[in-house]
Amino acid sequence: MKLTKRSVSERALELGFASIGFTDAKPFYDHQMVLEARKSSYDWIYKLGLDLSAGIDPKAILPDARSIIVVLAHYFDRRFPPEMENHFGRCYLDDDRVTRDGLSLKIKALRDHLLNAGIKTKIPFHLPHRVAAARAGLGTFGKNCLLYANSAVARGSWILPIAFVVDAEFEPDTPTTGLGCPDWCKNACLICCPTGALKGPRKIEPRRCISYLTYFGEGLTPRELREPMGLWIYGCDHCQNVCPRNRAWLALAKTFPINAAAEKMMPYFALPRLLHMDTGYFEAHIQPHMFYMPSSELWRWHMNVARAMGNTLDTGYVPELIRAFEENADERVKSMAAWALGRIGGAAARSALDRFRSKVDGTLKDEVAFALTLS
Ligand code: SF4
Ligand code: SF4
Repeated sequence: MKLTKRSVSERALELGFASIGFTDAKPFYDHQMVLEARKSSYDWIYKLGLDLSAGIDPKAILPDARSIIVVLAHYFDRRFPPEMENHFGRCYLDDDRVTRDGLSLKIKALRDHLLNAGIKTKIPFHLPHRVAAARAGLGTFGKNCLLYANSAVARGSWILPIAFVVDAEFEPDTPTTGLGCPDWCKNACLICCPTGALKGPRKIEPRRCISYLTYFGEGLTPRELREPMGLWIYGCDHCQNVCPRNRAWLALAKTFPINAAAEKMMPYFALPRLLHMDTGYFEAHIQPHMFYMPSSELWRWHMNVARAMGNTLDTGYVPELIRAFEENADERVKSMAAWALGRIGGAAARSALDRFRSKVDGTLKDEVAFALTLS
């Protein structure tokens, strides 16, 4: 049976995708120019073994490529527990890339639907999925570099575009590749970015973004970033939360039923448990949902949690941070636990820091001394 745009669209919506669009299989040369101009900012991606330039030409991915079908998945169609939203990017609270029990099943079903009609598909991770979605008329960009849907999630940014390169031809939709921000928004995202990662409209320095810093930042988080990184432990939604283009969906989301999977994860993601977790705990309860840091980098989780605890200013965390300092051999974790104790302050934190100062030396001693100046 020959599939039409209409029948593919109906199947995609039936499977629960929020929206679908079609574009041709021409190379993304404009995107290639952006990548080349900003090469130094994206070096780290290449070092991770991801060659973004290999996704520029769809025919390099599927030699008979004729079209690209793009679907939008919405990951925020259930309410997330606020305890989780405060610390983790929402897209990671419903991420099945390891468990493969949610979105992956829908993608497979759509792929099977196309394959049953003799259409070959490839879903390359390095194709510029957001740009493909805009070219397929599914959304416009925000100055915060995110894609905002044209007709789903109340035109907000809570979407994940998935591009299928296919060897069948479908009539392309009208592209909407421009900026869609209203003139009256005076750059709320650019102004509010706590670490200054947004350098201008659609211009991000990824290595300053809290998302990057939480899972790829090198070594001990520099002092000047510890407060700005706030409560975030893995990812950051700040520039989406402040954006007026997301206001309607954020208001609506308050009435949604709770995301049962995220609620089930919640006890395992309690801050004290994360602060003291060992490899077994991490691999059983955390890594299936948040996997950018391998178990060999557990120190980074401990460090991020200690910093977030410090920024809560909650004296209830003081005993946990003292324990973290004592039980950890890693100086990066010890240093952050000390910083967090200093940030929270109070007699118990100060007395612990005084005690630690007499037992350590080198840079850790400097960190403890610095923490004492905060307390
Ligand atoms: S995700 Fe957070 S740190 Fe990154 S650009 Fe947005 S507000 Fe800034
Ligand atoms: S905060 Fe304003 S400038 Fe930034 S993406 Fe939203 S509408 Fe655009």
